[in-house]
Amino acid sequence: MEGEILIDDPAEPPGTADVIEKEEVRRLIDGILPVNISKSGIKGKRRPQEKFITGSRTIAFREKFYPTVLDFEWNDWRWQLKNKLTTLSQIEKIIHLSDDEREAIINRGKVPLSITPYYASLIDRQDCNHPIRKTVIPVSDEFYTSDEESADPLTEERQSPVPGLVHRYSDRVLFLVSNLCSVYCRYCTRSRIISNGKRNEFGLEYWKCAIQYIEENPSIRDVLISGGDPLTLPDDKLEWLLGSLRRIPHVEFLRIGTKVPLVLPQRITSRLLKILKRYQPLWMSLHVTHPEELTPEVNQACCRLADAGVPLGSQTVLLSGINDNVETMKKLFHGLLKIRVRPYYLYQCDPIPGTSHFRTPVNKGIEIIKSLRGHTTGYAVPQFMIDAPGGGGKVPINPDYLIGRDCNDLLLLNYLGKVYRYPDSFGE
Ligand code: SF4
Repeated sequence: MEGEILIDDPAEPPGTADVIEKEEVRRLIDGILPVNISKSGIKGKRRPQEKFITGSRTIAFREKFYPTVLDFEWNDWRWQLKNKLTTLSQIEKIIHLSDDEREAIINRGKVPLSITPYYASLIDRQDCNHPIRKTVIPVSDEFYTSDEESADPLTEERQSPVPGLVHRYSDRVLFLVSNLCSVYCRYCTRSRIISNGKRNEFGLEYWKCAIQYIEENPSIRDVLISGGDPLTLPDDKLEWLLGSLRRIPHVEFLRIGTKVPLVLPQRITSRLLKILKRYQPLWMSLHVTHPEELTPEVNQACCRLADAGVPLGSQTVLLSGINDNVETMKKLFHGLLKIRVRPYYLYQCDPIPGTSHFRTPVNKGIEIIKSLRGHTTGYAVPQFMIDAPGGGGKVPINPDYLIGRDCNDLLLLNYLGKVYRYPDSFGE
């Protein structure tokens, strides 16, 4: 385990060393000069730098494609965002695109294109069937919309009393606070809103309306903050948001839904952790797709969050040709437990336009759960879910373990396929 001890002092604000010659900065960071780096140049005592781990795969990638980028730049989440790969020419410099991928990028689908340099380091440059690559690089299949697909299959818009807030279940709300993500997944359920250019819809005035709605509805005890990705917000905005929500007496706890720790682990800074600690109880749902995402960087980010008292759960979308087999899922769920993330939900992929090539038969999910249940610890078995189209909410889908009744006995099928009886005298 490559864990990490938190340092008390936050890192130097990112980007402040731009004015210093790179070679000089390298010498400073190497500790040759005991001085600090600041906007105005070199002055004072050197502050501690945030310590980030870099995996061997990413080191090799950096040496090849970003040889002049310094550690403090690479490990600065704002540098990662500023240097996202969003155009054909940027991506082609790194990845050998197939004709189909190239064509799809040129034709620009509904989902924007964006990959952080860090996440790009995990992609196989030659293999267009590489699982992570398939989740972020478009292909021509995404231009096909099947009959059952729609932009808002979960009818979130209809269940939205004020913009950005979805109130489906009586005791909780989904608060969409941003339409930006650091990396865009080609199968995104909220492709209708992500990076649609209407940034104002997620501005302060909209947040205030949503917060007022929550204040006026005492049945709401749980707020799930999502987007887009809330962790792409700057610290001050995130803190304002968390503080405003935690001040509401009937809001018992908050949740954040995010993929950032997987695609931009550098975002999990000491400063962010201090903010998150202040607004506990606060839970986090991590959008995780494949075991290859579980790098040393992600390990560090998750351990930091767990050490800061943030309980972590995962959400995984079942994706054809990416993670739809038992071996991959087992590796993923076991890997998550090792970095203190409890596998929580496995989702059937929602019928969003252009995603039919990602969807699997529902039976595939049942088969995966069946091959996990009883064969590994229960903590490694998530709940398989379908988010019911039409706004029906999440419906758990389980293999059939209760196979019938014989007089007072319930007939139970165990994980090895053997039938057992349970005396249920009070049942009927
Ligand atoms: S991180 Fe979430 S919101 Fe962003 S593109 Fe992926 S699925 Fe959509």
